[in-house]
Amino acid sequence: MFDAILIEKTDDTQSASQTQVSPEQLPEGDVLVEIAYSTLNYKDALAITGKAPVVRSFPMVPGIDFSGIVRESEHPDYKPGDKVVLNGWGVGETHWGGLARQARVKGDWLVPLPEGISLRQAMVIGTAGYTAMLCVMALARNGVTPDQGEIAVTGAAGGVGSVAIALLAARGYTVSAVTGRADEAEYLKGLGATNIVDRAELAGKPRPLNKERWAGAVDVAGSTPLANLLSMIRYGGTVAACGLAAGMDLPASVAPFILRGITLAGVDSVMCPQQTRREAWRLLEAELDLDRLEAMAVEVPMEKVIETAPKFLDGQIRGRVIVPVA
Ligand code: NDP
Repeated sequence: MFDAILIEKTDDTQSASQTQVSPEQLPEGDVLVEIAYSTLNYKDALAITGKAPVVRSFPMVPGIDFSGIVRESEHPDYKPGDKVVLNGWGVGETHWGGLARQARVKGDWLVPLPEGISLRQAMVIGTAGYTAMLCVMALARNGVTPDQGEIAVTGAAGGVGSVAIALLAARGYTVSAVTGRADEAEYLKGLGATNIVDRAELAGKPRPLNKERWAGAVDVAGSTPLANLLSMIRYGGTVAACGLAAGMDLPASVAPFILRGITLAGVDSVMCPQQTRREAWRLLEAELDLDRLEAMAVEVPMEKVIETAPKFLDGQIRGRVIVPVA
């Protein structure tokens, strides 16, 4: 038996608890992983609190990502002792996830841990950091270069935002950190932000176009902040949109697209093809200043996972929350 967080449903109510499960209860898969670290992401908070229908089958072990060591494998690419990372693929939603001592998964979902990244660092980066890299790749793919002007990052003090700032700064971009927490200014500057912007500036009723301000943006907010951002992006710029922290809607107009040639680049980390996710992890190893990672990391033991989850929904979490599982 080993420790796990388990979400169960009875009638219409769901509840999460820390409990013991046995290896026989694990779902099917061709690789058994001994988990070292998992993390808490915004999506895990939605799953654990039941605030959104993230979990699709019950009982469910949450945890959309983990790092660990292969224990048993029937997959040709993996053997016992290999260090691996997993992000997404419905793990923690439709397939038992990372908040347990062991996971049995499809080998096709795994990424070999890059040599320069430790099992712990992999989860300080986690799905938030890997998604931040996918956003930075989207800006570059669409031709946004550091000489074109500043890049806005919303949800700056959160997980995706924190890593995005560090990655953009490392590539030489000038970064505006958009945050609701002015008291995190020093933290954000320490990650590489040049300017701190109050998120209230993106909270007003969106107009079709506003004064051109940023060459591009990484947006975790969606809704009104994203609509306002689009209206403020300079001619030909790109917004990489990955989140819905402010809401799922998008009260925007087509004006930025048809009058300024703006690109709205959608970013999904869950079903992202293997080749792209391996490229993202390769770039994270090559470019991320791992010394900056520790400033973002908060460690939460398994016993505190359930009480920590609601803090994400209240916007109280700074940076990345990692959970040592072993
Ligand atoms: P966090 O909770 O760590 O960060 C979210 C941040 O958003 C908060 O810290 C806060 O930053 C800001 N925020 C919160 N509420 C609002 C609001 N009403 N308006 C504007 N900003 C707000 O979450 P993550 O970084 O883990 O995830 C961020 C978003 O990205 C989530 O919506 C998540 O679901 C999504 N996501 C999507 C992925 C994908 O594959 N597309 C993968 C990973 C995450 P501050 O206090 O600095 O303003």
